[in-house]
Amino acid sequence: MGLLDAAVWSSSIHRGSWTPGGGGTHDVVAPASGEQLGTVGMASAEDATAAAADARAAQGEWAARTPGEWAAVLRTAGLLLEEHAAEIQDWIIRESGAIRPKAELETRVGADECFDAAALPHLPQGEVLATEDQRWSFARRRPAGVVSVIAPFNFPLILSIRAVAPALALGNTVLLKPDPRTAVSGGVVLMRLFEKAGVPPGVLQLLPGGADVGAAVVEAPEVDVVAFTGSTAAGRRIGETCGRLLKRAHLELGGNNAMIVLPGADVQAAASAAAFGSYLHQGQICMTTGRHLVHESLHDEYVAALAERARNLPVGDPASQDVALGPIIDAGQREHVVSVIDDAVAGGAELVAGGDVEGPCIRPAVLTGVGRENRAWREEIFGPVAPVASFSTIDEAVELAADTEYGLSLSVLGDVGAAMQVADRVPSGKVHINEQTVVDESNAPFGGVGDSGNGSRIGGATANLEAFTEVQWLTMRS
Ligand code: NAD
Repeated sequence: MGLLDAAVWSSSIHRGSWTPGGGGTHDVVAPASGEQLGTVGMASAEDATAAAADARAAQGEWAARTPGEWAAVLRTAGLLLEEHAAEIQDWIIRESGAIRPKAELETRVGADECFDAAALPHLPQGEVLATEDQRWSFARRRPAGVVSVIAPFNFPLILSIRAVAPALALGNTVLLKPDPRTAVSGGVVLMRLFEKAGVPPGVLQLLPGGADVGAAVVEAPEVDVVAFTGSTAAGRRIGETCGRLLKRAHLELGGNNAMIVLPGADVQAAASAAAFGSYLHQGQICMTTGRHLVHESLHDEYVAALAERARNLPVGDPASQDVALGPIIDAGQREHVVSVIDDAVAGGAELVAGGDVEGPCIRPAVLTGVGRENRAWREEIFGPVAPVASFSTIDEAVELAADTEYGLSLSVLGDVGAAMQVADRVPSGKVHINEQTVVDESNAPFGGVGDSGNGSRIGGATANLEAFTEVQWLTMRS
């Protein structure tokens, strides 16, 4: 039997066992073909509220397990993920329109997340503090409690598992609310993996649903920590609720990321990096290169090289080996991307390549001459669109790169010393030198500043210990 035998989970949510949800069902539709792939159960807001109470009830027993028991479950989940990688990749490809290398990246990083999490429980987790005579003073870490993970559609497996795995590994119970559009690869897959790995009933619950279900989870009094990945607008609302309720919120939000090409950089290599950074997963990535800033000495050659790549990238069915760009997630997002391109052109920009709609896909686009007040420059497009501008001095490049409310990922190509100076001056949670903006590793602290997040980080042992534990100060007299 495969991991995802539909007879087990179809039309169901998971609340200790697979059970019909109060929110009815959701048809899982392939964005590439419109084919119905199955149905998932949808939770109601009432399910979310009840699940939070169950998660609180289950937390004491899970927190009382030994570090070795937590680690064993996480290791097993990682091994199961590797064993069933091909089946999971097929779901990611069909359900989210990802090309195969991107789906393979998801299963590889997803397994790494489990193995990294398996190491967490055995790390030193406290401090011995300075003390008075006869008094011992310690700071130790305890599980944070009930963690809710709310995830988007674009990297369904990684963006769920990167919070679910460390939260479970540190003794928390978890409520997972994936985006309904990717409820299988971002929800059912994880539930099945951890169920098979031996997570007890109620310790991880799956609540596919829309914003109302997410909002109910955030409001539930039993939820201690919210780990949200998604748009800045939704993150702001969640942050406001968490502020009112005095809950901890990890907000991983949008981006409008610049790639700076310094004088002397290798133009062909830069154009190749740029095509990856702007077009991987159809530009639907928080770290997508949204603004290309190219030194004036290289600008024309760079635009020509990027446009040539854009014209030659095969677009179509993501299941086909040769395809570089699959479909946009749904019609609404496709119309949004087209309207951004149209607005840019109406504002005086030149569409040098791409931008045509081909069935469910959009051909990768290159824009020049985009005004700094235009939507294509100011907003996160979440589509395969590469606006390019030139600069003449490093100061100008820094000023252009920093001219955004976001601060997630920055790339600088060229001399490392000059690039480090840029890194010092542009606020950004991540800076990639001589790499493009889309870089992900399971053990790196991931997060942004400004409108890209609230300064917290998830990823890597240090950040994950901070994110999913409470510090308890403990004294004792001898
Ligand atoms: P979205 O905010 O609309 O939805 C994300 C998730 O939040 C979904 O599960 C959705 O159902 C839920 N949700 C929406 N409103 C909610 C609310 N008020 N309360 C609780 N839950 C709510 O995001 P999207 O447009 O589908 O995803 C793309 C966005 O996610 C982009 O802005 C992208 O940059 C961002 N993103 C950020 C990161 C990161 O790590 N920084 C990673 C991937 C995507």
